[in-house]
Amino acid sequence: MRLWGDRLWAQSHTGHKRKTNQDRFLVREVKHGQRVLLAVADGMGGESGGDLAAQMVIDFLDTVPIGPGEFELHLKQILTETDEKIKQRARENPDLEGMGSTATVVVVSQNTAYWSHVGDSRLYHFHANSLKQVTTDHTFVQDLVADGTLSQEEADRHPMRNVLDQCVGCGGLNVDSGRFRVVAGDRLLLCSDGLTKHVSDDSIKAALIEGNARQAVEELLDQALYAGGKDNVTVVALDIPQSGTRAWFQTAQMDDSSNGNQ
Ligand code: CA
Repeated sequence: MRLWGDRLWAQSHTGHKRKTNQDRFLVREVKHGQRVLLAVADGMGGESGGDLAAQMVIDFLDTVPIGPGEFELHLKQILTETDEKIKQRARENPDLEGMGSTATVVVVSQNTAYWSHVGDSRLYHFHANSLKQVTTDHTFVQDLVADGTLSQEEADRHPMRNVLDQCVGCGGLNVDSGRFRVVAGDRLLLCSDGLTKHVSDDSIKAALIEGNARQAVEELLDQALYAGGKDNVTVVALDIPQSGTRAWFQTAQMDDSSNGNQ
């Protein structure tokens, strides 16, 4: 658990079924709080491989320069480069073959959120009491929804609903990216599929309406665990403040590290 005050909160839990937590998150202050970068990575591919792949995504996002300009293109390039690095590590060590990670990342700079995404972690934007899923899951069944073969309800119950058709480290990457405007009072929420396999969009919306970022994260994590906690669960939430992101970083009690898995 890491805290930056009630307006920016991130938490991860192993869940009730898995032995290890292969989810990672990152909250990174950029340019003395003028920008903030948030990310969730959900590793896969065996006990050591999944851990390593997710950590490589987070470590790269934590250290790479986030310069001014076209953030979403920059994020896209970062994920493409990380894909190459993970593939290279797997080539060097056959035990790591097949490892990969999801990556959902957003940079908030002034009134704009720039995002990039691979896999089935998600970014949501809560604005004016309405919740929008910004990212599209990179799963086989979601592709079938897109071409009209399956309805969303059929896809949600499909036995292959968790099978990814893209991950960082799997090669052939086609990173989604974009930008949208944010205003004071909006909320951003990033999560791994350990949340969304148990908790509906309606419940996510209700949690965001009722509490601040911290309360929303704690409430949603509790709901996922109560519903079974079949997978690792990670939730990151940010309230867009009136005064700009710099204000929290000046006043927040920063915990010991900006990324972690508990
Ligand atoms: Ca997962």
